[in-house]
Amino acid sequence: MATIRPIIIHGDPVLRRRATEVTEITPEIVTLVQDMHLTQRVANGVGLAAPQVGVGLRIFTWGYEDTAGVAPTHGEVINPVLTVLGKISEEEPDRTEDTEGCLSVPGLGFPLQRSDHVRLQGFTVNGDALDFEATGWFARIMQHEFDHLNGTLYVNRLNKRWSKRWKKELKKHGWTTEGRTWLPGNDQDPFGHEVDAEALAEAEDTPNSRQDS
Ligand SMILES: [Zn+2]
Repeated sequence: MATIRPIIIHGDPVLRRRATEVTEITPEIVTLVQDMHLTQRVANGVGLAAPQVGVGLRIFTWGYEDTAGVAPTHGEVINPVLTVLGKISEEEPDRTEDTEGCLSVPGLGFPLQRSDHVRLQGFTVNGDALDFEATGWFARIMQHEFDHLNGTLYVNRLNKRWSKRWKKELKKHGWTTEGRTWLPGNDQDPFGHEVDAEALAEAEDTPNSRQDS
């Protein structure tokens, strides 16, 4: 059984700090990874980085069906090394094709260019080595999550035009202070997704019964 963890919203310094290397896979790390997988599923996310649940360690999870067979559809990586193999286009990003979202910037989406080919190396929570080349949207997810471990959010990478729009939204929402969170499965899904009831049923303690949200 795993626990759904609150997701930290933009403005909290934990999202802007470089996360530190995992030195040992302790039972706490195993629990963290299980919780991250569940939290990501209940939040309908395709990826989640440890700083997004307030833990400054170099770990992220993903859940994406189209990994082209190079990686499991649900996986995690510890101490990842990301190598960008495909050049990042300098053209204006496409509003439909290139729009990214982030669970820590709830409800919003902005387009940006990413490399469509990266290599990812690291370890699973079982200590097995990982080494694969991701392409397309899967490559985008790897870059987005890896960025989180270096304190960079996708909204920090927007071009001038989209950055302006983001700053307006930022002002409107007031996401500039520490300690804001939302709880998947309890708070309304910011991106309008239905909550995965099967995933929710795996939670140790259902968010509805929580008093600390
Ligand atoms: Zn994100």
